[in-house]
Amino acid sequence: MLSTTVVHVCARCGSEHIRKNGHADNGAQRAKCLDCERTFILQPKGERYDQKFKDQVMSAYQDRMSIRGITRTFGVCYKTVIRWVGEKSGSFPGVRGHTAARQKR
Ligand SMILES: [Zn+2]
Repeated sequence: MLSTTVVHVCARCGSEHIRKNGHADNGAQRAKCLDCERTFILQPKGERYDQKFKDQVMSAYQDRMSIRGITRTFGVCYKTVIRWVGEKSGSFPGVRGHTAARQKR
């Protein structure tokens, strides 16, 4: 049998004196540090959106869907879409608008 022991520590002070403290809205276990009273999520999820979903959103953007429309359709935050467009703008030769306006400064 293979087993793994994980020692959780406080996200702020590194103390091992933590206890369970309910759950976050997404069901993740929350914890509280008994030394500094900081509360945090024990194992935060990494990337919220996977690459396949990101590609779908960027494909919709390339098809000239408005960012507000993408926000409504895919449920992604407006600023997140803007950031993704900014990250990809080099690979989208035809993209104008938000990124072009941002580059003017
Ligand atoms: Zn602490």
